[in-house]
Amino acid sequence: MTVTESLPAEGPAGGTPAPSGRWTFQWKELYEEVITSGLCTGCAGCVIACPHDVIGYKHESGQYRPFHLEEELGADNCIHGEKGCTSCTRACPRFRSWEVEADEHLFGRARQPDEMAGVFKDVVLCRASDDFVYEHGQDGGLVSAILIWCLQNGYIDGALVSFLEGDKGGWKARPGVATNNDEVLASAGSRYTYSANTLAYGEAQEKGLSKLALVGMSCQTSVGPVMWHRKVGKVAKPIKLNIGLLCSKSFDDALFDELFWVKYGLAKDQIKKMNIKGVFQLWMENGDYHEVNLKECHAWTREGCKLCPDFAAEHADISTGGIGDATDWTLTIVRSELGREIIVRMLQDGVIEAKPGDADPGAIKLMHKLAEKSRSRWPDWANVEVRAGLAVGAKNDD
Ligand SMILES: Cc1cc2nc3c(=O)[nH]c(=O)nc-3n(C[C@H](O)[C@H](O)[C@H](O)COP(=O)(O)OP(=O)(O)OC[C@H]3O[C@@H](n4cnc5c(N)ncnc54)[C@H](O)[C@@H]3O)c2cc1C
Ligand code: SF4
Ligand code: SF4
Repeated sequence: MTVTESLPAEGPAGGTPAPSGRWTFQWKELYEEVITSGLCTGCAGCVIACPHDVIGYKHESGQYRPFHLEEELGADNCIHGEKGCTSCTRACPRFRSWEVEADEHLFGRARQPDEMAGVFKDVVLCRASDDFVYEHGQDGGLVSAILIWCLQNGYIDGALVSFLEGDKGGWKARPGVATNNDEVLASAGSRYTYSANTLAYGEAQEKGLSKLALVGMSCQTSVGPVMWHRKVGKVAKPIKLNIGLLCSKSFDDALFDELFWVKYGLAKDQIKKMNIKGVFQLWMENGDYHEVNLKECHAWTREGCKLCPDFAAEHADISTGGIGDATDWTLTIVRSELGREIIVRMLQDGVIEAKPGDADPGAIKLMHKLAEKSRSRWPDWANVEVRAGLAVGAKNDD
């Protein structure tokens, strides 16, 4: 049985209009159904899609939300929307039937109820063959290796990634564009605060780039497929490759000062590297290593993550994570034909090494478990398709 067959004809939040129906939804509906309802992840898809540049975004602690820049009709309505503009709702990967629509576009079908981690072709463990790339990477350095190889082989001419602001100890994430090896490596590694990499789209346009990779957390990787399905137009066209980062949550920037510093005396500018492997791991400049219980960090969960159902970056060409025993490898979920082509060609060129996902069965089991856990955050009152496969009443308030 498919997801669609397993569901009532129409969910509480309605569905996509009938094929003959016109898509009339604008900022007004987006504001009511996504932004103020708690579904908004802050992915900034609506911001880059707006042809009138009237959607602002604050990439700051406690914010990471879009807002309307024009005051004419108030915060909750848009004059351009009233005149027929619908780009923002077409771009939003939390509006109405976003999951099924992106699935249909990418895979020609909706996911099955038991496909909690989304549709995929292969799961492998990968790492960059080049030690320098590997050492810069968070896990196996696969994402950086992909970007470098794709730049060299003409798949892309730039990548929307995340840099760190300032010099040493500047742990504030900043979306930006990487167009060469040095920039790719400068952006490598994970920040566990939010970085709306989609916002680097404008910089890519200014640089005249036309073949982009979007690297982003799960919420961001649905932006392209939803835009393509709902025919946003030229905005989605330059996004050629979608690389996802598995994600159960991101934290508000205040975590550094309010928990790491105040309780543990760990100064932000002394943190060298972070990772999350069941606990929050912190390596300090002086060689010290600390672990902070994840439960303690929950109070700093970013608002936009609290109802997010997508752990496994289900709409990426290639999704990547660091769970499992093989901590120095990247767990790699290959979803699309393009993703498979890139991984196969990189293996043939010897720029990555791989071993079968079965080498770490615990990682795959954990991926499914965490995918189900995240999915159970999706509220009953929103589009029902997303909860397909979950036990009735399944809930996760983490
Ligand atoms: C907020 C967050 C939460 C995550 N949660 C999990 C998890 O629960 N389980 C799991 O298995 N994996 C998780 N990951 C993914 C994991 O940390 C690695 O990013 C992934 O395994 C790829 O490793 P790599 O060595 O191949 O990537 P690298 O070669 O190190 O490349 C990483 C890429 O991610 C980009 N990036 C870094 N930080 C951010 C950010 N905050 N926002 C957007 N882009 C960013 C970088 O610019 C770079 O392009 C998370 C990542 C992030 C950023
Ligand atoms: S989820 Fe993304 S596209 Fe949708 S309203 Fe929020 S920022 Fe905009
Ligand atoms: S949990 Fe991760 S994927 Fe979901 S909204 Fe938060 S940052 Fe995005």
